[in-house]
Amino acid sequence: MTDAAIVGTGPNGLAAAVTLARAGLKVSLFEKANTIGGGLRTAPLFDLDVPHDICSAVHPMAAASSFFRQFGLEARGVRLLQPDMPYAHPLPDGSAAAAWRSITRTAEHLGADGPRRTRVMAPLAARSGSVVDLLLSHQRSLPQDLRAALLLASRALAHGTTRTAFTSEPARALLTGVAAHAVGKLPSLASAAVAMLLGHAAHSTGWPLSEGGSARIAEAMAADITAHGGVFHTGHHVRDLAELGDIPLVMLDISPKEFLSIAGQRLPARYARALCRYRYGPGAAKADFLVSEPIPWSNPLVRQAGTVHLGGTHADIVRQETATAAGERVADPFVLVVDPAVTDPSRTSGGKRPVWAYAHVPNGDTRDPVDLIRRRIEEYAPGFSDTVIASRGLSAMQYETYNPNYVGGDIASGAMTLRQSLARPTVRRDPYKTPLPGVFLCSSATPPGPSVHGMCGYFAAQSALRKHHGLRTPPDLSPQEKELI
Ligand SMILES: Cc1cc2nc3c(=O)[nH]c(=O)nc-3n(C[C@H](O)[C@H](O)[C@H](O)COP(=O)(O)OP(=O)(O)OC[C@H]3O[C@@H](n4cnc5c(N)ncnc54)[C@H](O)[C@@H]3O)c2cc1C
Repeated sequence: MTDAAIVGTGPNGLAAAVTLARAGLKVSLFEKANTIGGGLRTAPLFDLDVPHDICSAVHPMAAASSFFRQFGLEARGVRLLQPDMPYAHPLPDGSAAAAWRSITRTAEHLGADGPRRTRVMAPLAARSGSVVDLLLSHQRSLPQDLRAALLLASRALAHGTTRTAFTSEPARALLTGVAAHAVGKLPSLASAAVAMLLGHAAHSTGWPLSEGGSARIAEAMAADITAHGGVFHTGHHVRDLAELGDIPLVMLDISPKEFLSIAGQRLPARYARALCRYRYGPGAAKADFLVSEPIPWSNPLVRQAGTVHLGGTHADIVRQETATAAGERVADPFVLVVDPAVTDPSRTSGGKRPVWAYAHVPNGDTRDPVDLIRRRIEEYAPGFSDTVIASRGLSAMQYETYNPNYVGGDIASGAMTLRQSLARPTVRRDPYKTPLPGVFLCSSATPPGPSVHGMCGYFAAQSALRKHHGLRTPPDLSPQEKELI
């Protein structure tokens, strides 16, 4: 007999399944695609020996979150490889700003703004565990570390408004590039919180890549689930909750739009209306390239970076992101680029290597982004096009077809506005519990939101265990003797 069904096998569905299976429940997982993993898939797109990450590629939150800290990826053989320079930001005048793991080295490179940058990041890095736990919380309890909360609040207020502590372009653009990970209008309090979370993580737990690809993380989670009796059903698109029969507990790693579609008739009208009001943010359009050499960035500094932000100046990024959020197609969108082999040499084969890049575009955009992204890279790396052996584009709309959680290409499964950061997907005391008995939402449309951290699934499973099994203490997630490599 199945005790719990999990619909969707992204990092949050897997985290929910790990937690429930560890608590002794018999879990069955249902996944629309033929492979598990959601945003954690890796596949050889052009050459059998060159793996490409289809969605996520860089894992600052998997390195930091409380779920993965307990789960212990490294002890299970998943190597998180750390670039010494987590991210770089080339500027239109040929200069570049960069963040190293070392705060001191980062500051030295920023001249007069160096000490200011240290004053922003060093106190956060010193209390990194608390900062991460606060921003990756279910937001329904008081902060455990008030000092960390005050540090965050003061910085979010300063950097989420038009004021900025920095005077030089490199320091301003470096931070704004990280704020742009929130994918929305700039400046904003929500994007400033993201800038502080990701910005300080570069100097603490890092921005690692998973050796061999992001799928290694999903595989480690799946191995734990299987070892605890869980069963996977791939190629099963759940189109109606009734398909799950009388399984007493159902965890949904799906978007509010999909929830309305598979359960709409049964949902109380008020809750259904609230889900209809939930807003989706701008889309991502991705280009994958197979190339013959490392990206020829004209500024040599950028060649060491794990992630590269292409947005130009602070003012450029504010304009691009704000216009994109308003539904405008800008000619120079914000683009994130990763040349994974810079950090993980195992990604190359016979000199060939993958390049992962995506642009922020309006929600629902249907354009193939390959030429747009290639041109953006070429601006800062002339000659890049000559290294391209093969390419593939996925428009924002194609992302929704690939994975219904990415509504209109919104890879956050819901706009990261201040309101929706707190009330996700709607205002409720327990954001995971739905009005349907035994049915819980656990996708990134619940707190704490997007990224590969597993916390939405972990919190949703804890809520389900409390309410349906009276378990107040979460189960131990650490690798057991037989699972250690
Ligand atoms: C291009 C791109 C780049 C990204 N880069 C990063 C990055 O570098 N670092 C990072 O941390 N995050 C990144 N992300 C975001 C990250 O992938 C997501 O935040 C994360 O995967 C969300 O996890 P989830 O479990 O909530 O949902 P998902 O990972 O989206 O998984 C949901 C799963 O549910 C399945 N599903 C949905 N509906 C149904 C149904 N009705 N029946 C059966 N199955 C269903 C889907 O097929 C999917 O497998 C990126 C995303 C994209 C698309």
